[in-house]
Amino acid sequence: MEDDNLVFYCKDCHSLYILVDEELADSEWDGAYCGKCHSTDIGQCTIEEWLAEEERRRKKREEIEWNK
Ligand SMILES: [Zn+2]
Repeated sequence: MEDDNLVFYCKDCHSLYILVDEELADSEWDGAYCGKCHSTDIGQCTIEEWLAEEERRRKKREEIEWNK
């Protein structure tokens, strides 16, 4: 597995829009937070894993739409 395929994502909303507060980057908390929902629960995975999870989430959303 190639390390450079790793991405940071938000564990709450699954966004890839992760921002880093530079002033806090050296602290224990690395300063990363979600630019969408402002969660600090940030995970790391490969882009392939992220895409697979995104697909699962999309299907789930569609199922919810159909069952309305
Ligand atoms: Zn988020």
